[in-house]
Amino acid sequence: GKRTRRGTCTLFSHVMDAQIRREALIEQVLKQTDMDEELTVVFQPIVDSSSGRTIGFEALARWDSPVLGRVPPGEFIPVAERGGFVGRLTRTLLRKAVMAAECWPAGMRLSFNLSAHDLNTEESVLAIAAILGRSSFDSRRIDFEITETAFAHDFEQVRTSVEALRVMGCGISLDDFGTGYSSLTRLHALPLTKIKIDRSFVKDLHKNPASYKIVKSLLALSRDMHLDCVIEGVETQEEMDALAALGAVLIQGYFYSPPVAGHELGDYLDAAGTA
Ligand code: C2E
Ligand code: CA
Ligand code: CA
Ligand code: CA
Repeated sequence: GKRTRRGTCTLFSHVMDAQIRREALIEQVLKQTDMDEELTVVFQPIVDSSSGRTIGFEALARWDSPVLGRVPPGEFIPVAERGGFVGRLTRTLLRKAVMAAECWPAGMRLSFNLSAHDLNTEESVLAIAAILGRSSFDSRRIDFEITETAFAHDFEQVRTSVEALRVMGCGISLDDFGTGYSSLTRLHALPLTKIKIDRSFVKDLHKNPASYKIVKSLLALSRDMHLDCVIEGVETQEEMDALAALGAVLIQGYFYSPPVAGHELGDYLDAAGTA
């Protein structure tokens, strides 16, 4: 009845208010924070399941705020994007990620997430290039991960930026593949080197026929486009078996390892027998 509907609306607006206040607080704290001090990167292995070898790591941002405690990246990165200061965050994290990667074993690759804004201006791409130029880590060992939201606005600028990164030798991975709305024509216009299938399709894949079909066709599509394909969010042996049957090879997920702190990577590689 009327009362219930009004009750729901009130609850909804309270939840919205709380969320808006939380975002405003995060923005205020993050903006003023010493990012070099409080932001760190952790690294999640990407494993070639046919050999069991770790071929690289994805850098993932972590923020331990003295004021707010640990805030997950899914929360603070969108805030920085909307607040217009994600470029500063990207540069801090990229500097830290390549510095850590400089002492990795030869051939080990680094995947790094970029935001839409990082590709939307020439200055932001030049800033990325400058960081790579100052590092001894070979740019050809870096894969930048981009999502389809990056080219919702200015596709031509994104294409120019992506091409510039390719000229430096970097790979480009399309992240969260299957969750966006891009046409294949647009995807084809970008010089991609890899796609990453979103973990929402991987969960319980062995008993969910719809997910199974989606992963199967995304894998076929990546093969047709001559692109490598990473499957994200693999957690169980059952999921692994179903993926093996589909011919999927590159795996990232808790099945192999959660993200690892930079100073623990040596131990991880020793245990994995890759170093
Ligand atoms: P993403 O790029 O899709 O990263 C993968 C996320 O899935 C990570 O969450 C990772 O910890 C999580 N994950 C990996 N394996 C599993 C699994 O087996 N099961 C489950 N349930 N989760 C798994 P995280 O670290 O919380 O990052 C969330 C998102 O925040 C990332 O999603 C990415 O969109 C964004 N992000 C993280 N670091 C950065 C960064 O440095 N820059 C930018 N622009 N975005 C970042
Ligand atoms: Ca990613
Ligand atoms: Ca260099
Ligand atoms: Ca992803």
